[in-house]
Amino acid sequence: MRSLWGSWGLAARFVGMTLVLLLLVQLAGFGVVVSSIERNARGQIARELEIGERVWRRLLDQNAERLRQGSALLAADFGFRSAVNSGDLETIRSVLDNHGQRIGATVTALFDTELKLRAVSETLVVPGLEAALQQLVIPMSAKPQGGQIALVGRTPYQFVLVPMKAPVVIGWVLMGFPIGQELLDDMHALLPIHVLLIAQARGEAARVVVSTLAGDQTDGLNSGSGQHLELRVGDDLLVGRELQLESALGQVRTVLLRSVGEVVAPFNQLQWVLGVITALGLLLFALGSGLTARRVAQPLKLLVAATERLGRGRYDEPMQDTGRHDEIGNLARSFDQMRVSIAAQQDEIRRLAYWDRLTGLPNRERFREAVMQGMEQSSGPSRSLAVITLNLDRFKHVNDVLGYALGDRLLQAVAGRLRNLVQAADGLVARLGGDGFAVLLPGVDVAAAQAMAVRIAKVFETPLALDDQTVDISAAIGIACWPEHAADADALLSRAEIAMYAAKSRTLGVQTYDATLDSTSNQTLSLLGELRRAVEQNELRLYLQPKVALGDSSVTAAEALVRWQHPQRGLIPPMDFIPFAEQTGFVRQLTRWMIDEAARLSAQLQADHRPLKLAINLSTRDLLDQEFPNRLAQNLARHGVSAQAFCLEITESAIMDDPQRAEATLNRLSQQGFKLSIDDFGTGYSSLAYLKRLPVDELKIDKSFVIGMAHDDDDAKIVRSTIDLAHNLGLQVVAEGVESEAILQRLRELHCDEAQGYFMSRPLPVAEFIRWRDQWESRA
Ligand code: C2E
Ligand code: CA
Ligand code: CA
Repeated sequence: MRSLWGSWGLAARFVGMTLVLLLLVQLAGFGVVVSSIERNARGQIARELEIGERVWRRLLDQNAERLRQGSALLAADFGFRSAVNSGDLETIRSVLDNHGQRIGATVTALFDTELKLRAVSETLVVPGLEAALQQLVIPMSAKPQGGQIALVGRTPYQFVLVPMKAPVVIGWVLMGFPIGQELLDDMHALLPIHVLLIAQARGEAARVVVSTLAGDQTDGLNSGSGQHLELRVGDDLLVGRELQLESALGQVRTVLLRSVGEVVAPFNQLQWVLGVITALGLLLFALGSGLTARRVAQPLKLLVAATERLGRGRYDEPMQDTGRHDEIGNLARSFDQMRVSIAAQQDEIRRLAYWDRLTGLPNRERFREAVMQGMEQSSGPSRSLAVITLNLDRFKHVNDVLGYALGDRLLQAVAGRLRNLVQAADGLVARLGGDGFAVLLPGVDVAAAQAMAVRIAKVFETPLALDDQTVDISAAIGIACWPEHAADADALLSRAEIAMYAAKSRTLGVQTYDATLDSTSNQTLSLLGELRRAVEQNELRLYLQPKVALGDSSVTAAEALVRWQHPQRGLIPPMDFIPFAEQTGFVRQLTRWMIDEAARLSAQLQADHRPLKLAINLSTRDLLDQEFPNRLAQNLARHGVSAQAFCLEITESAIMDDPQRAEATLNRLSQQGFKLSIDDFGTGYSSLAYLKRLPVDELKIDKSFVIGMAHDDDDAKIVRSTIDLAHNLGLQVVAEGVESEAILQRLRELHCDEAQGYFMSRPLPVAEFIRWRDQWESRA
């Protein structure tokens, strides 16, 4: 029940409540009406019965009066008088009969002056009639004007007694009429009252003699109970009163009955009307309260719908009913205020979620959405879009050395420069996080994107001035274009980043996405499969390039360099697969292969008494691998060679990727007895001061400076100062990329320790290298 009530709507409850209350009020009114009808009816019945009684008595009086006049006529009749005087009983009896019949009297009698019965009509034959009449006449003569009711046999009669005067009284005429149906019907015709006549002869039970009701209907009458009588006739109740009539020779009573049903009937109609009015009232109330409830509930429903919209994050649709001047209007208005302020908060949250605080640029999330929008909006044959991602080189280092505050300002300055450049080309710049930025160029193809990337790279050529510091900056730049390189925003963004990381690891300025760069692309997977096969099928070759001591031109060492002897494509240079191997992690297998080969070679060279220090290149991945030093030691032990026979070359950028871990690995390798060399020195940005902390033995000046020495004074200065500084720090210096005698000579003057380059020898297969070394040494 409760749940049923609960499941009703507010409107239904409102209507239900109203109707119940109205019904209660109507019922109370109805009760009052019914009880007052009852009271009124009883009052009316009492009054009517009172009138009825008077009328009844009058009727009886009138009846008596009529009798008396008839009797007087008879008494005055001359023939009758003569008969009385002459004592002709025969005539007397016949006159009594005739006269009685004429006026309707059943009993006609003549009494003498002594009140002795002389003659009686022969119409009625009742035993003991004469004695009864004799008994009746004496009291009647005392008040000759009145009538007398008396029971003759079992029938009530009304008698009158009239004296015959001539002029003295010569006799008395007595006449009697039965009080019968006729009189009662007269009464009933006058008034809507039923009349019952009850007679009780001496020593007998009372019984109804005549009645306006049908014979059996009077059976239930509780006569004798006094003033208030009740009689049930069918559905109807009759109430009435009993009147004792003054009677002789037994008791005669009249009962007057009035039908309650008849009295109440007009009121019943009233009740019907009242009922109909109540029903109509209920209907009207139901309609009215239903409408009112709807007027309340409808806006509430709208408000509920509106809050559901708010719940779904739709804040744009204004509330309805805000114009109303009632409580609903107030509610709607405050809801609307809530909507507006939540929308504002949402905007603020979105702003915080979509914008980078430091630079004021959109963040990665916002950028991603912009890319998606750009894809949606661009259509037609010229459907294209480019994403350029940039990552600052050495930013971590700047932060470490110059402090975070300056680092932040550097990022802001970079953001400013990028914005100036890109906004002019209708592009969008975002900060992806840390030192990473991205540029979105709508409607731009690969060639145009590359042009823009070059312009961006140019912008970085100008050093930034922060306070009194000038900071050189550079960035690795990756390009990916839609739809050429990716089908959706996420793939496009991640491929631009893949390209950017490739640019970084190859120390190229700009790199456009290519499936071979991507460790997740199909082409990559097949390339990876090929590389695996290369190791298993022994397609890799170890080449050696000599390192020559500048003092005595002896061949002290050689760098081991990998080549891939591809069955179809021929000899593949390392730059075509090493960066890819680094990206996919496969480079660690490559390193393992190289160490194995180098260790075997070293063991063989020792056995031949022609020992040679072999330089092996390590990748970032090797440096970050905590197990690497152990595995390296085990490998060498297996071939029975010691760490002293090897030099490990590590690039600056490999160290700078994660300086702490790299440092730990380097320390262990150094402890194991390996010679450590910093490769490509000068291309990264590690300061000598920093390198000094590392257990390094050697610096290899990058070939770009050495080659450049020939015609570029700056490069020459760099080479010279590097040599000086390295020596001051107790490090050996190797120059790679020595392509001419002149440069070799120059390096010798600068007291460089060793040289490596095409001038002495290109990288050679081992057998050729050994022949070359014999030749070189014999020439020296
Ligand atoms: P890198 O370590 O700087 O090796 C020196 C590179 O300079 C070699 O290129 C060598 O052929 C080249 N070179 C030597 N002298 C001259 C010269 O006078 N002029 C010019 N222009 N170039 C000269 P290569 O063999 O193609 O190797 C390229 C890079 O591949 C290497 O640079 C190294 O970073 C990587 N690499 C080669 N083999 C391995 C390896 O086994 N493991 C790892 N991790 N990397 C390797
Ligand atoms: Ca090297
Ligand atoms: Ca190098």
